[in-house]
Order: sequence, then structure tokens, then C-alpha cells
Amino acid sequence: MEKLVSLCKRRGFIFQSSEIYGGLGSCWDYGPLGVELKNNIKRFWWEAMTHRRDDIEGIDAAILMAPKVWETSGHVEGFTDPLVDCKQCKHRFRADQVTGDKCPDCGGELTQPRQFNLMFKTFLGPVEEESAIAYLRPETAQGIYVNFLNVMGPSRQKIPFGIAQIGKAFRNEITPGNFIFRTLEFEQMEMQYFVRPAEDKKWFEYWKEQRRQWYDELGIRPEKLRWHQHAEDELAHYAKEAFDIEYEFSFGWKEIEGIHNRTDFDLGRHREASGKDLSYFDDQTKERFVPFIIETSAGADRTTLVVLADAYREEEVKGEKRVVLGISPKIAPIKAAVFPLVKKDGMPEAADKIYHDLKKHFKVFYDDGGAVGRRYRRMDEAGTPYCITIDGQTLEDDTVTVRERDTMVQTRHKTGELVEVIGGKVG
Ligand code: ATP
Repeated sequence: MEKLVSLCKRRGFIFQSSEIYGGLGSCWDYGPLGVELKNNIKRFWWEAMTHRRDDIEGIDAAILMAPKVWETSGHVEGFTDPLVDCKQCKHRFRADQVTGDKCPDCGGELTQPRQFNLMFKTFLGPVEEESAIAYLRPETAQGIYVNFLNVMGPSRQKIPFGIAQIGKAFRNEITPGNFIFRTLEFEQMEMQYFVRPAEDKKWFEYWKEQRRQWYDELGIRPEKLRWHQHAEDELAHYAKEAFDIEYEFSFGWKEIEGIHNRTDFDLGRHREASGKDLSYFDDQTKERFVPFIIETSAGADRTTLVVLADAYREEEVKGEKRVVLGISPKIAPIKAAVFPLVKKDGMPEAADKIYHDLKKHFKVFYDDGGAVGRRYRRMDEAGTPYCITIDGQTLEDDTVTVRERDTMVQTRHKTGELVEVIGGKVG
């Protein structure tokens, strides 16, 4: 993990927030390559979950919502972690993560557990009083439930159908850490699928399958993924059944996505509290019911960490260490780099033309600094799948070398073929 954090800083993927002031714990900023990678992951999810389907609509709801939403959802009362403090070293832990009754850091005595709400509070308007309290949403799902009717009407969807959303969520986590695995502010990629109550099991199984496949398409090694079923005492207050997809990080098997059967809990509660009829009339069966919800909830930042951790490798090439990020070309931040072999003999001009032509099709990077071997290494660390080198022969026959990141094999191609050769793999 330390090596990955250091590579992320060195190559401009991820930096600590407010670093020049000593940093803010568990908050991270995405740099030039990081934002490209995370955007590509979000786009990959959005395409799979909305564009490629007829039964899912997208929305983008506000982060601030009526405080009533969080009372109704159960978050004001129940979105808490039990907290214990060490009386000696003052370190703070989640009670459910401490084994025994002694401080894991110094062996000191721990306080009794007390409940701590994870929602960040803020105030609406100029006066900081109780009645002005609002919350930064701790999950994006509620923005979907309260818009159930708004989306269903104009889109003319019929059950079963889903609503998808990508957006920020905030949690005042007590034991954050492990780089971007657990942060105070993060992005969720959530989809809520509305189904007939009697069909919940079928759709739950369907979505488990779909979501597992998505990680294969993302290029994650299958042996690093497994299922974890929530036992009765682990289930959230709204859930009838829940499975997590876990990834084997260097710090253990951890949840990266949850698939939940939330029953009619959410729409039922909002229907009662708002007085709006959130039930559904089934044309086919002539029945009216409150839909059940199958939720798929993934973290964009956690998925970014999975992609980085899964892709990182060190190899020895001709007695030298090579660090490679073997990210799938489909989500790599830079798709191809363009190098003039030397800065003379018309090579920079030829390279510049190729660079500008390719730029219209995908993200390319121009580099004419230093030995070409060094330039390859920098691109290996950035996860760039292809490097195009313009050399003396280019000026004679209009061909270039294309070097593939993982195999390091170089092949010659006509410049006119590059969009096809590379574009087909990175799209
Ligand atoms: P955990 O047990 O790790 O706290 P959770 O069960 O509370 O997670 P959910 O509420 O199911 O998580 O959230 C769905 C997804 O949102 C998680 O699988 C994860 O990818 C992401 N997520 C949740 N909390 C955080 C966080 N603090 N930082 C980054 N991502 C998060």
C-alpha cells in the first residue's frame, strides 16, 4: 500500500488534501491522472447501468435534502457506530472493531461504548439553530427514493425498472484510513431497482450476477473477488438480504460493493411520512403495491483503489526494476503516448502531427523529454497501454512503432492505421 500511495503521488494520481498545511486526515484530492481514471470508471459504470439498458434511468439529486428525509429513512436515529476511547492514549476506535476490552494500541483501559451518528451536520440560512439543521447525505439512495414518482412519470417506465445515480456522500467515519478505502467524503455509484414484492428473490440473484460480471469487464482478477453474505446480526435496519462483493486488499478482504434487498421499507416509510402515494398500480395484475427495492451500491473511490491495487506490479527487465500499472486500456487515464525519438531531423514535427490527429479520438500524451527508455517507464507507471515512437524511418515510409505496455512488444504501423489499431482497444 505504501508503494501504491507513493506512486500515486509521484505520477499525479492522488494527493493528500490540503497537503501544504500538513494534510487533512482521510481526505484526498485526485490529480491529473487520478481524475481521468476515476471519471473513466464512473463512465464505465454509467454505460453498463444506464446507456446499455432500456430499464434504468439516471438522475443527479442534490446533496442537501429536507431533514425529514433522514428522519424517515432511519439515519437520524440509527446511522450510528458504537465508539470507545482509550483512557490512556486517547485513541478512538469503533467498538465492533476492537477484540477484547483493552486498547489495541497501548493496552490501556477503554471507555464504555457510546453511539456516534455518522452524518455531517450543517445549517441552512444565517442562524445556527436547531430548526436550521441539515445533513450532508450519507448515501445517494434517498435522492432516488424521493424522486420515484418524478422519474417514473416522464420516463414512462413500468416495473421492474431502476434509477441510477453517481454522486458524493459524506460520513464522519471514526476509524478512517487505508488511503482512499475509507474516507469522510466519497462518491457512490448506486442503482435502485423497483420490483414486484413476489419477484424480489429473482431480481436479487440477477443483480448479484450482473454486478459480479462488471468487475470482470473492468479487468479485475477474479481470484481476488469473493462474496460475503450478511448474517442476521449484520443486516442493516432496512435489509432482508445482503451480499457484499469483497476484494482482497493487502490489508485483508474488504467490502467494495453491497447488493441489498431493501424490501418496501424505503418507499413505505416515505409514503407514510410525506403523505404522497408512492405505491404502484400494476396494469397487468390490476394490483396496487409498494415496490420492493433491490439496491446495488458501489463506491467510485473504493473501485479506483481496487483498480490501482489490482494493476500494480513490479518486474525485473534486463536487471532493472520496472513498475507497471496494468490498468485495462478501457479505463486507463492516458490511452497512448507519442514520442519523437530525438528532438531533431523533422521528428518533433511528425510526432506533433500524429499527436494532434489522435487527440481527436482519445486521450494522448506528448513526451519528448529524456531517453526513450525513461519515457516508456514513466508511461508504464501511469498505466498507459500504448507508446508510439516516431523515428528516422517514419520520415521515409510514414510508419511508427507501437509498443504495448504489458508485453513490451513493438510493432510497426502506418500512421493512418493508428486510430484503428489503438482506438479499437481503448474504447
Ligand atoms: P463499511 O462497512 O466499509 O463501512 P458500509 O457497509 O457502510 O461500508 P454501504 O453503506 O453499503 O457501506 O455503502 C456502499 C458502498 O459505498 C461501499 O461498498 C463502499 O464502496 C462505499 N463506501 C461506503 N463508505 C465509504 C467510505 N467511508 N469511504 C469510501 N467509500 C465508502
